[in-house]
Amino acid sequence: MRRCLDCGAELTSETCENCGLTPAEAEAVLRRRLLNRTAIYLLGTVAFLPAAHFYPPLELDAMFIFLGVASFVVVGSAVWIDFRARRQASVEALKRVCYGLLPVSWLLASLLFVNGRFDSAPPVVHTTVVVGKFSMPGMLRTSRLVVHSWRPGVRFERVPLSPGELDRFQKGDAVEIRVQDGLIGIPWVSAVQRK
Ligand SMILES: [Zn+2]
Repeated sequence: MRRCLDCGAELTSETCENCGLTPAEAEAVLRRRLLNRTAIYLLGTVAFLPAAHFYPPLELDAMFIFLGVASFVVVGSAVWIDFRARRQASVEALKRVCYGLLPVSWLLASLLFVNGRFDSAPPVVHTTVVVGKFSMPGMLRTSRLVVHSWRPGVRFERVPLSPGELDRFQKGDAVEIRVQDGLIGIPWVSAVQRK
């Protein structure tokens, strides 16, 4: 059974009875839509970076991994849809995967922004000791201060810092980490200073 690449309706003749497009036209429409939507998704991942910079969540690394996996699936399925559409093969299942994940990047970026921007509760100050630090060069230029954790069952916290700040700290320093609960419950770091 062949399906229209644009609307997914079953094809009984050379023109889709639902949307009125020929298979070639439907393929062109599908490709343009796919390109636009993937671009909007990728813009969301770009919007995530300033949100994570201004209101860095304590679990930033886990969020990066999640966003990375989601982006891989979105881009991968978009490429696969394009590949199958060239052969006029069915793309409905792949479309559901790809389009279903599209809001993820914008959702995550806006959650982080709202969580930090409208969080008016006072921060909780945790005093701890620096165990190590590291920074990753490249486009993301992320820096982490590794400290003993104050949470039960967690050994270390990898506190996000801007790269310039990292030089202020040495291994063994006592530091104060100001953590905010976040408006929607995502703990984030508002300040790090030496004690
Ligand atoms: Zn159609």
